[in-house]
Amino acid sequence: MHTHSTASDGTLSPAELVRAASRAGLDVLAITDHDTTAGWEPAVRALPPGLRLIRGAELSCRWSGTDPAVPLHLLAYLFDPDHPELVAELARVRAAREERGERIVALLRADGVDVSWPEILVGAGGGTVGRPHIAQALIRAGLVGSTGEAFGPDWLGERYRLPKEDIDVFRAVRLVRAAGGVPVFAHPRATRRGRVVPDELIADLAAVGLAGLEADHEDHSPAERAHVRALAAELGLLVTGSSDFHGTHKTVQLGAFTTGVEAYERIVDAGVTEVASG
Ligand code: AMP
Ligand code: ZN
Ligand code: FE
Ligand code: FE
Repeated sequence: MHTHSTASDGTLSPAELVRAASRAGLDVLAITDHDTTAGWEPAVRALPPGLRLIRGAELSCRWSGTDPAVPLHLLAYLFDPDHPELVAELARVRAAREERGERIVALLRADGVDVSWPEILVGAGGGTVGRPHIAQALIRAGLVGSTGEAFGPDWLGERYRLPKEDIDVFRAVRLVRAAGGVPVFAHPRATRRGRVVPDELIADLAAVGLAGLEADHEDHSPAERAHVRALAAELGLLVTGSSDFHGTHKTVQLGAFTTGVEAYERIVDAGVTEVASG
């Protein structure tokens, strides 16, 4: 229910991603690239027999209830990809990502780090640009040995981490619902990624249309998964599990965590876009 392709910061093309999902024995795959639906069409075209595809996206959001704002990710499933306001907001965030990437590169270069923005854009291949693409440039330059190291505090995790102009999370939840989609909070308790939001915020989001919480995710400890499940039960939200697969940009394998049939059916029933079948 949560994977990335070369339409954002994954390493498999949308067509390769659906084939890999079929080989991994999955019944259903969701493609959820960061702030884009560009992978939908090539994924549908390549869909192998027996695999169902949920078309989605992962929206870059922020909660401004504390200063500085907390960045967070909202999965959006089965929305209308032509909803004008949502289309405009996604385009705006992608532009903000490019602007931020360019500023990160300028900071690195000012410190004598030999990375080039045009080369990073080429590496992103026209997909939504993210820090994993800058991480690749650091690896190519021989400065770090892995993506994980590039996200350490000396590099993109802290020293060269800059905020981007994300979507206000309340606006995002309302916009996804207005576009007929189903919003699910991605890895809401991933403390290892940075600050997380309070449960009260999640309750407030549920009141404006949030449909579910992603509980089983590699960035959640067992205690964090249990906490998310309990909160979802309390608020009447559905619960998902997913690999957040990024190809070789991460070590997690496709299908490492999965979602139950009941949650799947709630998502499908609530979404305006059909599930595609191979
Ligand atoms: P961005 O969207 O540009 O802020 O970059 C965030 C993306 O970087 C996430 O979606 C992950 O794919 C990736 N990421 C974040 N932390 C790590 C990490 N520690 N190791 C590998 N990839 C990471
Ligand atoms: Zn990513
Ligand atoms: Fe995410
Ligand atoms: Fe993701």
